[in-house]
Amino acid sequence: MTPTAPAVRCDGVVQIYKTREVEVVALRDIDLVVEDGESVALLGPSGAGKTTLLWLLAGLLRPSAGRLWLGGAEVGRLGPRALDRLRAAQIGVVLQNPARNLVPYASAAQNVAFAQRAVRRRSRQRTDDLLERVGLAPLRDRPAGLLSGGEQQRLAVAVALANRPRLLLADEPTSQLDAGSAAAVVELIKEMGPTSVVVTHDPGVGEAMSRTVTIRDGRIGAEGRDGEDFVVIGREGAVQLPPEYHGLLPPGSMARVEPVRDGVILRRAEP
Ligand code: ADP
Ligand code: MG
Repeated sequence: MTPTAPAVRCDGVVQIYKTREVEVVALRDIDLVVEDGESVALLGPSGAGKTTLLWLLAGLLRPSAGRLWLGGAEVGRLGPRALDRLRAAQIGVVLQNPARNLVPYASAAQNVAFAQRAVRRRSRQRTDDLLERVGLAPLRDRPAGLLSGGEQQRLAVAVALANRPRLLLADEPTSQLDAGSAAAVVELIKEMGPTSVVVTHDPGVGEAMSRTVTIRDGRIGAEGRDGEDFVVIGREGAVQLPPEYHGLLPPGSMARVEPVRDGVILRRAEP
């Protein structure tokens, strides 16, 4: 990654899953820039496309259309080995299913150490520090497969941070944690993941991040900064009204657009 490039840039990214019978458009026209140092909470209902976007940012999927840069490197122009190297050196990932991040028969400490070996930065001290930070120091020698779901989730975060990634991507990393452990994990991510994108349903996690991005129906519908929420005007001028206003302007209803000095007002056209 080049130091001046943003950590992530998506330009018109589209992701289509093709199964035998149907094509699912999981993401359409995603424009997104994440600057170095930002922490982004990715919000949105189930099926909106959050996991798909995270997989794209992790280099685990290549976009069906559009362009995606991780650091200065355009994913579409990297061969498989160059992409693997970039991922191992620069990106830490916590997948949605905690067990999938871990080697089940290896101990908690070995799982963290393996992740460091991938970039030849192994250090016993760092392993112990990370396990301590996620509250797993007493369980360091237990096989990961024998940990509870919440313990596996905390271990997965430690593993993702083990190689000091420039970009940390985490998919609902606190879904199985109580409030106290969730707060500790968020603290750790903010401290050690200098740039992070975290999918979450937890409003507490969203508040801890510098920015929120909300996806609905495969599009970025809203963004929040410093506690204020904004809708995002899409490529063709499309706006997703927040669901709390669907009562005033139900989907499918007609509205008048009234220009004013600094924007427009939408008013329902009475039938
Ligand atoms: P979220 O994480 O926001 O719940 P996903 O990214 O998992 O959403 O899914 C977005 C859409 O893509 C959903 O309609 C989902 O059913 C579909 N989808 C996800 N993965 C696949 C796949 N491997 N094959 C086909 N469809 C998929
Ligand atoms: Mg998901």
